Amino acid sequence: MMSDLSKLPSVDRILKDPRAKDLEERYGRQPTLTAVRETLERIRKAFLEGKGDVPSIEGILEMTSAELERNLSPTLFPVINATGVIIHTNLGRAPLSNAALRAVQEVGGKYSTLEFDLASGGRGSRLIHAESLFRQLLGVESALVVNNNASAVLLVLTVLTRGKKVIISRSQLVEIGGGFRIPEVLRHSGTELVEVGTTNKVHLFDYKRAYSPETAAVMRAHTSNYAIVGFTSEPEIEEIAASAHQAGLWFFDDLGSGALLDTAPFGLKHEPMVQESLAAGADLVCFSGDKLLGGPQAGVILGRKDLIDQLKVHPLARAIRADKMALAALSATLDHYLKEDALSEIPVWRMISADANDLKVRAQSWQRNIQRGRVVEGNSMVGGGSLPGETLPTWNLAVDVDHPNKLQEILRVNAPAVIGRVEDDQLLFDPRTVFPESDADFIKAFHQAWSAYEK
Ligand SMILES: *Cc1c(COP(=O)(O)O)cnc(C)c1O
Repeated sequence: MMSDLSKLPSVDRILKDPRAKDLEERYGRQPTLTAVRETLERIRKAFLEGKGDVPSIEGILEMTSAELERNLSPTLFPVINATGVIIHTNLGRAPLSNAALRAVQEVGGKYSTLEFDLASGGRGSRLIHAESLFRQLLGVESALVVNNNASAVLLVLTVLTRGKKVIISRSQLVEIGGGFRIPEVLRHSGTELVEVGTTNKVHLFDYKRAYSPETAAVMRAHTSNYAIVGFTSEPEIEEIAASAHQAGLWFFDDLGSGALLDTAPFGLKHEPMVQESLAAGADLVCFSGDKLLGGPQAGVILGRKDLIDQLKVHPLARAIRADKMALAALSATLDHYLKEDALSEIPVWRMISADANDLKVRAQSWQRNIQRGRVVEGNSMVGGGSLPGETLPTWNLAVDVDHPNKLQEILRVNAPAVIGRVEDDQLLFDPRTVFPESDADFIKAFHQAWSAYEK
């Protein structure tokens, strides 16, 4: 150990060392240079603060190597979701079906008909792909797919209601995760928001009283992530739509989750469905591609052709258009609904419809392999801004440990990372959201983490 800062070698001197050349070969020239600089800076700072000596060149190279390892390891990679939250916003929402993944690989890795019309040999439109599927599936006049649902709402309001008024119930002034607030989106679009009713009650007469010559539309936003319970009421959407139409206004429904299948048969509350909204008279509906639809990130707008035609030609639509991989995955996802194999092929629906007994058997098998914990009844959640407060009965592996948060942390930084849930000083692992093909990885990761925990 040297104790004099003047002995700290220069960047050049370190880079001339054969071991630095090895690092350059492994990690690249620029990243190595950056890491050497940062390491020297750290040493200098620690020395000046009296917190460390100047290490030898060996020591510096070791620190540089560790720095490179940290800097260059990927930050986006798969994890095992054992939280029991199916549409986990922080863990990437809906996982894609195998067919959707294949479509992404095919279309993403090759040239495609994205904007090419094979019959004429001329330019085609990227908008036709999903549109024709939605037409067959739901009988809608028109469809437009954009980057996500937030941008879908912004597009509809910017193009169709700017400078005019839109009526919405006070009970629906929702904030979605990530700071997306309906009142703010309305303001950004240049639309004047007219709130009607109270937080818990809104009547049809509240809407009717608000109609004015400046009103363009009536909007409903699904209260995706909260529920108002108790003394509450709001009109049926058929009534709202009919009353809007009578007044010469159109009705826009932001559904959020975009359920095409009924959630009620699985013991959940009935999540509003796309078909119902259209049948109730909504002129436009919009929803996410990666919530209950179970596809890629996308925003889907369906409904009246005259309205959607106006959206399609607006510059904002170009700015928020969906990319070819999302369109490929979305088409393959919709195909599952057409073929009626969505429950078995789309991961979100497979998890929702998973049989509690099968989950128990898997939790028991985890327990046998891990030789730890108890299999206990628990609750899974749909998550992702749908069905707030609703749960699905499940079986968890519950592991009692003195320091559950410590074990949890080790599991998180392990490879593969396992994300569980800490509840009442126990670590819970829910098989519902773990792909059965990941069971072996989960068990291995747990064993590894456990040995590290015991050390
Ligand atoms: C989730 C949600 C959105 C935002 O959708 P993204 O796809 O996340 O952009 C908008 N409105 C409602 C009602 C939602 O539930």
